[in-house]
Amino acid sequence: MSEADSLANLDRYHRQTLLPGIGEAGQQRLRSAHGLVVGCGALGTVIADALARAGIGTLTIVDRDVVEATNLQRQVLFDERDVENHVPKAEAARNKLARINRQVTVHARVEDFGHRHAESFLDGVDVILDGLDNFETRYLLNDLAVKHGLPYVYGGAVAATGVSLTVLPHPRHRVERAGREPAVTWSAEEATPCLRCVFPEAPPPGTAPTCDTAGVLGPVVAMVAAHQATQALKLLTGNLDAVDRSLLSIDAWTNEVRRFDVSGARDAGDCPCCGRGVFESLAGGGSETTSLCGRNAVQITPAASAAPSPSNLDLGETARRLEPHGSFTRNEYLLRGAFRAEMGSGGDPIELTLFPDGRAIIKGTAEPEVARSIYARYVGA
Ligand SMILES: [Zn+2]
Repeated sequence: MSEADSLANLDRYHRQTLLPGIGEAGQQRLRSAHGLVVGCGALGTVIADALARAGIGTLTIVDRDVVEATNLQRQVLFDERDVENHVPKAEAARNKLARINRQVTVHARVEDFGHRHAESFLDGVDVILDGLDNFETRYLLNDLAVKHGLPYVYGGAVAATGVSLTVLPHPRHRVERAGREPAVTWSAEEATPCLRCVFPEAPPPGTAPTCDTAGVLGPVVAMVAAHQATQALKLLTGNLDAVDRSLLSIDAWTNEVRRFDVSGARDAGDCPCCGRGVFESLAGGGSETTSLCGRNAVQITPAASAAPSPSNLDLGETARRLEPHGSFTRNEYLLRGAFRAEMGSGGDPIELTLFPDGRAIIKGTAEPEVARSIYARYVGA
């Protein structure tokens, strides 16, 4: 058999199909499965890498950011060329995964995962994987999981610690999905608490450590993401019984690994989301201006009424308008550059990255008002 043949069939998964829980049948199930990875940073790249190598059929990867030099310490799908070429993370991930496994279909979505379009990402999806750095969007994923009856694998890491939790939502508020049968199903008895059952409130802004204030150790992220990817593989190969139903907590510095029983996290029916079916985040409880973890930057997402429809903003025209104000370059995905006369809090020029859907990342300030002002003056509200 030629190398091309063995790369195209199931032989490449031999060391994995040897596992009794997987076998040829599990591998076939995995091949028809579709994972949604939201956030393609440290957690997301490790998850996507593991699932693509394992032979998942389809991955949809959603990320709003562009690869930067400080990402390379832990974000395994990116390299120095991605930094130099200012490639969006979702596109860089797709490019790398295409070289790792040609059998996997990867959809790259360079977008903010906001409540308005959240449900549009779910088409054909079998599992939701959390590669995020903020609770606001995690609650949105949790709402989606409960409403659409999808498994949601939460993960988070900061400094040398991390947590992971797999949510199999109670089916009482599940809506019927159009299209094919879901790949993973479970009964009410097999359901777990949802994310809001376990964490009813997000930590208030400024109170929790972030990767900006506390740093993050690369291998810790890989440990958490590996646990997430493992649970996804169990779910997608039909091994529901083997899924970890506890909250896993890792401190790689003190060498503590703990598993918390969360089965009694909330009385059935008491949780606003999985108990009462109120999907607060999906209804638009989130904000439209976000300070970005890890950088002195603010993201602006235009209001629904003011936003151009996706890919509708003429970046060429905007680049021409910005030309007198600084140095800007453009590629097929975005426009970016620095203003000559707008100085940020550190004394460096303020930088703008603008996407075709009107979303912008303003770097050099952490103040939403300053960012809004820059956006309004140079991009237009
Ligand atoms: Zn709940």
